[in-house]
Amino acid sequence: MFFMKLHDCYVSANAFKRLMEASKIIGENSPSPKRAKNNVAKEGSSKDTTKKHYWKSGLSQAITDAENIIQSSDTVVIIKDKYPKAKFHYLVIPKQVQLNSARELTRSHINLLKEMQEKAEGLVKDCHPKTMFKIGFHAKPSMDHLHLHVVSTDFVSTCLKTKKHWNSFNTEHFLDLPELISKLEEKGNLDGYYPTDKDIELYLKKPLKCNQCSFEAKTMPSLKEHLNAHAQSNSKM
Ligand code: AMP
Ligand code: ZN
Repeated sequence: MFFMKLHDCYVSANAFKRLMEASKIIGENSPSPKRAKNNVAKEGSSKDTTKKHYWKSGLSQAITDAENIIQSSDTVVIIKDKYPKAKFHYLVIPKQVQLNSARELTRSHINLLKEMQEKAEGLVKDCHPKTMFKIGFHAKPSMDHLHLHVVSTDFVSTCLKTKKHWNSFNTEHFLDLPELISKLEEKGNLDGYYPTDKDIELYLKKPLKCNQCSFEAKTMPSLKEHLNAHAQSNSKM
């Protein structure tokens, strides 16, 4: 395991070297891999099946590119989400495990999940000590290769566009990691706990409820405006 500390945040030695080579200025609280300037690809944009398959495997590709890596150990990689749904959004990705969703997790994965949790909480503590985060899995991920979301709860981002985006993080579709680990510790698997496809469909169609007050928005633009107002008043506190 080899980490380097940079501006109070850990980055891999490889990423650090590349960042230095590029003379990139990194914000005090935001570990930042080099990003493509003209990133024209749209999230989940292809209808063609072959392209869709290729798209779905994007995370396996992303973790092999040192430029994306915020932190790396023998078992786990942390990258920034390429289409962040909040001010800060990371993905913690196990290197060796060939699972595509949390549905397949069993007792045998508990140690790995605890390591992922430790890495996620460490990143938050080191780099965003004053920011609230959610840490968990999407019940029905759009991308292959198991990935843990570490996302700030402001949900202020131009990439947050659809009802599905919102509800995927703010309904029972989002499986909090500590609860998932305790279910595995109790039973050894997630049978009976994991939402069915029908449940998931309903969760993703739920009304747009604010995660910080009782407001219910009629449209995504009004929810986004409302979330911006929360963010602005939170920043004054
Ligand atoms: P999920 O719905 O749980 O499968 O989430 C997949 C996440 O991966 C989304 O938040 C996307 O924004 C993100 N994503 C998609 N492609 C990439 C990529 N190439 N590199 C980093 N993040 C990605
Ligand atoms: Zn609110």
